[in-house]
Amino acid sequence: MVTILDNLEAAAQSLSVSAGRGVGPADSPWGDRTMKKKAFKRPARARAKTLVRTGDPLLAPIKGADQRTVGGVRIDIVRAGNGRIKRLVYPPGFRWSSHMKPLVGTTLCMHAHVGLLARGHIRGEYADGCVFEFVAPRAVVVEPGHDAWVVGDQGAVLIQFDAEDETARHFGLPEEHRHLHA
Ligand SMILES: [Zn+2]
Repeated sequence: MVTILDNLEAAAQSLSVSAGRGVGPADSPWGDRTMKKKAFKRPARARAKTLVRTGDPLLAPIKGADQRTVGGVRIDIVRAGNGRIKRLVYPPGFRWSSHMKPLVGTTLCMHAHVGLLARGHIRGEYADGCVFEFVAPRAVVVEPGHDAWVVGDQGAVLIQFDAEDETARHFGLPEEHRHLHA
């Protein structure tokens, strides 16, 4: 006895067979080539234009940012509420104690750094001998009271969030790195 269910199953099977043929590369009317053209050609043109205009987005100018160079470090700053978003571009060979210390006047860098190392390799040391090392891409948390330097011949790009002098307190970090080990 042929039921409605049997008929439905047969119909479903024939549908899936023809659907299978339809998306196949062999003889489909909306075949592979048309799809590739649509998905491929337009984005490629757009990307080429963007590259010419902005270059490397990690180094390109940031809309609305104040830019300055301090101790060879290029710093872009954008205000964000009561804090700031900063991009710091450190050249190869940079070392805080050699290039920044003379300008700042403290023995160690007394800023907290919270952000993302987007490019490069940095290493550093606290007064008590504790060391840190980050290779991009890496979240960065550095407490006040450190020296730091770029490792290797590639520059480093750090995207940092700060609250100026309130950064350590804002992120719940100590005012100065200290270990009670000893
Ligand atoms: Zn320590």
